[in-house]
Amino acid sequence: MLADQPFLRIPGPTPVPPSVQRAMNQPMIGHRDQETKDLLHRIKPKLKPVFGTDQDILMIAGSGTGGLETAVVNAVRPGDEVLVIVTGAFGDRFAQICTEYDITMHRIDVEWGEAAEPETVETYLKQHPEIKAVFATFCETSTGVLNPVYELSQVIKQQSDALFIVDGVSAIAGAEMKMDDWGIDILVTGSQKAMMLPPGLTFATVSERAWDVIENNKRPSFYFDLTKYRDQLENDSTPFTPAISLLFGLEQVLSLIETEGLGAVYNRHLTMMNMTRAAFKELGIPLLTSDKAASPTVTAIAPTDFDPEALRKVLKNEFNLTVAGGQKHLKGQIFRIGHMGYCSPADMLQTIGIIEVALNKIGKPIELGSGTRAAQEILLGGS
Ligand SMILES: *Cc1c(COP(=O)(O)O)cnc(C)c1O
Repeated sequence: MLADQPFLRIPGPTPVPPSVQRAMNQPMIGHRDQETKDLLHRIKPKLKPVFGTDQDILMIAGSGTGGLETAVVNAVRPGDEVLVIVTGAFGDRFAQICTEYDITMHRIDVEWGEAAEPETVETYLKQHPEIKAVFATFCETSTGVLNPVYELSQVIKQQSDALFIVDGVSAIAGAEMKMDDWGIDILVTGSQKAMMLPPGLTFATVSERAWDVIENNKRPSFYFDLTKYRDQLENDSTPFTPAISLLFGLEQVLSLIETEGLGAVYNRHLTMMNMTRAAFKELGIPLLTSDKAASPTVTAIAPTDFDPEALRKVLKNEFNLTVAGGQKHLKGQIFRIGHMGYCSPADMLQTIGIIEVALNKIGKPIELGSGTRAAQEILLGGS
């Protein structure tokens, strides 16, 4: 096996494009120097379409969870009532953060592998008009579900004045997002998923409505106080030392997205989703989610007649191909293929082809090439 040739097909961290890697190698600059101001000034407008907003995108050094905590700390006060829609491990993380801050929490638990239903949320909000914020996960990475955040937003707006706060960590830059049009109040993402960067940067953007709430909140955090980031970014600056190397990389990421075209980026992700799903359907290996609920960035496969951990072991040890296992109660039950960011349909043909070989090696005899062929047919059909 070639030593320096990893195939990283997990839902984050994801591979970093070579040009982004090179951009990050630039010599360090002073965070209060004009170069950093210029860099932030160039980045700001190019980020907006990726989030589908006219608001500035605030950048905080930290992992994605830092972004989730930022949203909670700024938008709600201890004692406030909130609703957390939990469709998997990352919805549960929002709930854990709320619990930590003594927020009065309601939760709707959806079976893992299924998407949240707007009607359920509508009914719940009717019965609980005191709820001040609703939290949801756009792509639930633990199951490969893309929750219908636009539809959720509509019922929330109809039923209440609650803020709608969305974790977009494994979706933004891979799935279409129109934050302003869809009425999302706070949207958070991280750098190491579809954003094609290494881990270490989290992004948050806030609607006018949510700023009004934040202004009137006591924010029990110094580092995560969003008003500091907003006020500084207005002057192309940051309150604390930013992750400068990641900002170098980010500028190049945005250039790559601009060159490909945001619509083409989203279509590429949909193609990879369709290829993956067609392959496993052809192989007769069940998918965890329905076509309707499926995310364009990650696919969970739920085999019934072989051990996904045995497959993962062969993929890793013999081909240096990493796919993810299941989280929490789905551990040992599923495996997940990340197809987001720096990943193309060509990469998916490779991934599916290797998995077909590995399946035969672990004693799950499948017809070699049949899954690959189904994926190729998707590609040929242009869908
Ligand atoms: C990866 C991920 C996060 C953040 O995880 P970190 O390890 O803190 O970067 C949050 N939400 C979702 C949906 C994710 O996929």
